[in-house]
Amino acid sequence: MTAFKTLDDLGDVTGKVALVRVDLNLPMQDGAVTDDTRIRAAAPTILELSEKGAKVLLLAHFGRPKGERVSTQSLSMVVGAVEKTLGKEVMFVPEIAGDVVKQAVGILRAGDIAILENTRFWKGEEKNDPELAKAIAANADFYVNDAFSAAHRAHATTEGLAHVLPAYAGRSMQAELEALDKALGAPEKPVAAVVGGAKVSSKLDVLKHLVTQVDHLIIGGGMANTFLAAKGVDVGKSLCEHDLTDTANAILATADASGCTVHLPYDVVVSKEFAANPPSLRTCNVHEVAADEMILDAGPAAAETLGDVLKTCRTLVWNGPLGAFEMAPFDAATVALAKTAAALTAEGSLISVAGGGDTVAALNHAGVAQDFTYISTAGGAFLEWMEGKELPGVAALSA
Ligand code: ADP
Ligand code: MG
Repeated sequence: MTAFKTLDDLGDVTGKVALVRVDLNLPMQDGAVTDDTRIRAAAPTILELSEKGAKVLLLAHFGRPKGERVSTQSLSMVVGAVEKTLGKEVMFVPEIAGDVVKQAVGILRAGDIAILENTRFWKGEEKNDPELAKAIAANADFYVNDAFSAAHRAHATTEGLAHVLPAYAGRSMQAELEALDKALGAPEKPVAAVVGGAKVSSKLDVLKHLVTQVDHLIIGGGMANTFLAAKGVDVGKSLCEHDLTDTANAILATADASGCTVHLPYDVVVSKEFAANPPSLRTCNVHEVAADEMILDAGPAAAETLGDVLKTCRTLVWNGPLGAFEMAPFDAATVALAKTAAALTAEGSLISVAGGGDTVAALNHAGVAQDFTYISTAGGAFLEWMEGKELPGVAALSA
């Protein structure tokens, strides 16, 4: 892992102005924040800086206003939720640069916190305009990036600011980078990866990268169907990208050449309709899927074998469910493997890192999310990291 500075490297910050990039892209309904997970993730960094006496200016984007002021996407709407989670008063500043921010900084006392306006109201944010970064930086002494989830984008407040101010990783960014490094950067071997979900096409780069990195690649979900089809299996009406069979075979060949064992299910749960507990539900060998049936989950034998694979591994990185877990009983394989991974983690024999929107939902559904070593809620940034890409927001911190 390339070195980056953390809050431990800060000297005396009493009265100094910190620009802290956080993720406040919060789910809202009828003007109210429905889930404060992202605020809680940023809270340790915000409170630590506040306790150290810095004036804390929070920077974040909200929605996609595309470089214009859109009143329904003002960050003023989240101030109440942030105050509630932090247990502190928070000021709102309707600008990100210029005299209004300067005056606000003059009013703030050491340890006070303010939220600046939605960074995406300014066109320069997504263009990573260095002039905008300089204008924002003019009112501050240092920059802290605590938004790993936005680090795959090179924007003025996720990347540009790191070039014009002393830059530090916040606590949540630091935890994420350390966990991800343990999982794929310098992992304890053998390493297993689970890649599941709906489509191969959405995770091609992930698969291509992982087969060169891990010892075991477990392919599940709809994407397993494409691999089975590529191997000549008739997958019936299953979700399957038949146009990607050559690509799938090329990935299998790369895996072979790299010493990566690819695991595909050999028993599956099928039905004729996509519904909860359908009458046509049955479990069969992958070679016995009828023309009018769909594969909707890996079978119990496969789930057990995959659990045995995890028992031989020291590190697991997981993205994508093994089946259509939203509907019973197609959650069974995902839940079974998640429970095995959690138990191995509790025993101390496995380091388990997982990420992805539906993956986190599936692990919560299995009731084991808190038992994994680390769960990333970063979505796009997590996937780009799984593709082996350097994230611009992270690279800028290391520069
Ligand atoms: P993540 O959000 O964790 O990256 P994805 O979005 O790639 O995961 O995949 C999750 C979706 O894949 C779920 O909606 C799930 O229902 C679907 N899925 C998994 N297995 C199958 C299958 N066999 N057939 C159809 N859909 C599937
Ligand atoms: Mg998804």
